Amino acid sequence: MPAAVGLSGRTVLVTGGNGGIGLGMATGCARAGASVVIWGRNAEKNEHAVASVSDLGATAHAFVCDVADPEAVAATFSASVDAAGGRIDAVFANAGTTGDGTPFVDLTLEQWHRVLRTNLDGVFLTLQAAARHMVGRGGGGSLVAISSTSAVHGAANNEAYGASKTAVLGLVRALAVALARHQIRVNALLPGWTITELAAAGYASDRFRDATTRRTPARRWAEPDEMGPAAVFLADPTHTFHTGDSIVVDGGYTIF
Ligand code: NDP
Repeated sequence: MPAAVGLSGRTVLVTGGNGGIGLGMATGCARAGASVVIWGRNAEKNEHAVASVSDLGATAHAFVCDVADPEAVAATFSASVDAAGGRIDAVFANAGTTGDGTPFVDLTLEQWHRVLRTNLDGVFLTLQAAARHMVGRGGGGSLVAISSTSAVHGAANNEAYGASKTAVLGLVRALAVALARHQIRVNALLPGWTITELAAAGYASDRFRDATTRRTPARRWAEPDEMGPAAVFLADPTHTFHTGDSIVVDGGYTIF
């Protein structure tokens, strides 16, 4: 692994870090010198992720945690801080799910809540636990919520997803204001179409993949690892004046 100084000595926590964009961001941060803590519900996926990050020469820990479960988040955050030696410097609230394509007129309240529990309650619980840790140790740190370009364009038949991803932008802005006095920066990352399990059905559909690819100036979907550099930028403690922002990494999809 090339010598990395950017995040050396720092610990980065990524919820939903055992695959897809989360693992791409954890890998990017590890390559930049960080130790990483990964959360996911699936212990086997967690183990594979730890092995792949450790292969880079980085320290990695993983915990089974459902981000929608308040007790689990509080206990797992505390265990993560212990595993990290007492300090977590950057937290990516990335764990997410998507709708099942039910048309809005047929959507039930339970289907709506299923998405919001992970994508909004989960982000709230994760960032609150992280903020409590960072404020409690005297301040400083970086909080990042993973939103989506679905917060910019209409996510048809995926209204709960679009609503959750737009809501986290409001949360990020409010927290950026509230936590600035503690030198805690709060930003959002909006990935565009990325080849992961969550988006697998869309990618597998020739019609949908071709339509979205045609509308993307880069003329392709992203690989999860391509979110790594943005994650490193957001975690970097030298970016002391960067807060309340939304970074779009979408191959130009939203401006075309
Ligand atoms: P994946 O399905 O590949 O990854 C989702 C991750 O979240 C997995 O690690 C999964 O692990 C974890 N997860 C899901 N639900 C929970 C939960 N309740 N508690 C804890 N962990 C959970 O999807 P992506 O990598 O695509 O998604 C990552 C984020 O990026 C999401 O927030 C998504 O909305 C966002 N995004 C994705 C885009 C795309 O095109 N792929 C575009 C824009 C945004 P486990 O199953 O073990 O719990």
